[in-house]
Amino acid sequence: MSYYVRKSYPQPSPPEWNMWVHQNYGRTHCKVCLALDRRWFKKEKTPDWKHGSCHCVLEDIPYFDVLTKCTSNSAYSKFDPYLFDVHGEYKHGKDKLFKAWGYTVEDTMFLKAEMEKQGVENYVKGKYELGKLNDNGQRVSIRIEIARKDTGEKVSFLTGWMVHPNGHIQLITPYGGK
Ligand SMILES: [Zn+2]
Repeated sequence: MSYYVRKSYPQPSPPEWNMWVHQNYGRTHCKVCLALDRRWFKKEKTPDWKHGSCHCVLEDIPYFDVLTKCTSNSAYSKFDPYLFDVHGEYKHGKDKLFKAWGYTVEDTMFLKAEMEKQGVENYVKGKYELGKLNDNGQRVSIRIEIARKDTGEKVSFLTGWMVHPNGHIQLITPYGGK
């Protein structure tokens, strides 16, 4: 007689995600609920939004979908002219830090691609923080890391994103603080 000892190894459990679903009963349409409809969030980082006549529910979504379907984008204009204040019209001073790290408006395509890449990677890992929520939607902040051009030292900063339906995030602020 022989037998096998089945060993079980602890598996890291994937993060659990859910989708906000606004139930349309044809009565009142809360703009905030509508702005959350079909947005994907990690369970522990789902907006805490309820109001009197809210019929919204959270539906589980497979982490496989999160891993394979999330996308990000950013507009060229968020860097040129906005971040680098090419025409001196914003005077927000956000370009100073990037210039100190060795980046200029010539690096727009690199920064744009890097923020889109790291943005969606971190979102999928649940490495985001919930920001302002209103009629326009839920904002999240995501930490992005780049290398200083002079020393190669890694520096990081916060970027701001709007959460759109079905796992899409869009850059709204290329620099939202340290
Ligand atoms: Zn609702």
